[in-house]
Amino acid sequence: MIGVVGSGGDVTACLESLEATPGVEKAVRISAPYKFVSKEFRKERTVIKVGKAEIGGDEFITMAGPCSVESEKQIMETAEAVAAAGATILRGGAFKPRTSPYDFQGMAGDGLKLLAKAREATGLAVITEVMSDQDVSLVAEYADIMQVGARNMQNFALLKVLGRCGRPVMLKRGLSATIKELLMSAEYIVAHGNPQVMLCERGIRTFETATRNTCDISAVPVLNELTHLPVIIDPSHAVGKRSLVPAIAKAAVAVGADGMIVEVHPCPEKAVSDGAQSLTIEGFREMMQMLQGYQKLWKLERQSELAVA
Ligand code: PEP
Ligand code: MN
Repeated sequence: MIGVVGSGGDVTACLESLEATPGVEKAVRISAPYKFVSKEFRKERTVIKVGKAEIGGDEFITMAGPCSVESEKQIMETAEAVAAAGATILRGGAFKPRTSPYDFQGMAGDGLKLLAKAREATGLAVITEVMSDQDVSLVAEYADIMQVGARNMQNFALLKVLGRCGRPVMLKRGLSATIKELLMSAEYIVAHGNPQVMLCERGIRTFETATRNTCDISAVPVLNELTHLPVIIDPSHAVGKRSLVPAIAKAAVAVGADGMIVEVHPCPEKAVSDGAQSLTIEGFREMMQMLQGYQKLWKLERQSELAVA
């Protein structure tokens, strides 16, 4: 990609002469500072295939599982249950970004192995967080999707290495990041060679304390105007409280997100992290049932959009 700066006629003339140059397929004018991820660069949605799921396609995708992988029993039981309830991707953190250094930091490599075992048993694809550029190749051996946590959204060294990891990446919006900053971080990954990026709204910091974060639901239509990348909502980290999760999941479907990522635990009161916001298995089943009608509407809307395109 060649960037051309300037205004008015200069740029137009420059684009025309570039386009007339042998070997140039097309010259595209992109005014946004993020080029590859901009809708100006590519109109059609990016579709990311992992296992049975097509993220950005014509199904609303559900990723579900515990905040942290804790034991074989816990991850296997959760994986079987979320698969039976309609999830196609299993979440579970093996490297955990904890505010306190004294809190559980994750099972690391052993956790990754358990996730792979759960994938084998259920057919679910696996999404898990990578916290450091040094862990990228290890995590990529086990994960189908590499998760970049909110706290690492601007870890540019990590983003650059993820550009070469050969796996799709889910980039979570930073705690106080603007949408433009989120897109610029996505641009890092794509510019370094990896076009398979999805974005995740997981709530942002505001003055409000009734919820853990404030879910910026309008980020979905804003992002849909600005980028072709899929957008995922994380209702669990957005609200921080189990009873509020289904309402935000419903909003995610209604607002046209491509999918959601939800925390589920067989015994939330015993969870080593994020128990308060984790749905029980039964709660997850009920939520998935409640969402069925909304998901049908979602599908009709997406199909008519694809038909027009
Ligand atoms: C998580 O998904 O468990 C997590 C730590 O999320 P976030 O980076 O959005 O806080
Ligand atoms: Mn969590």
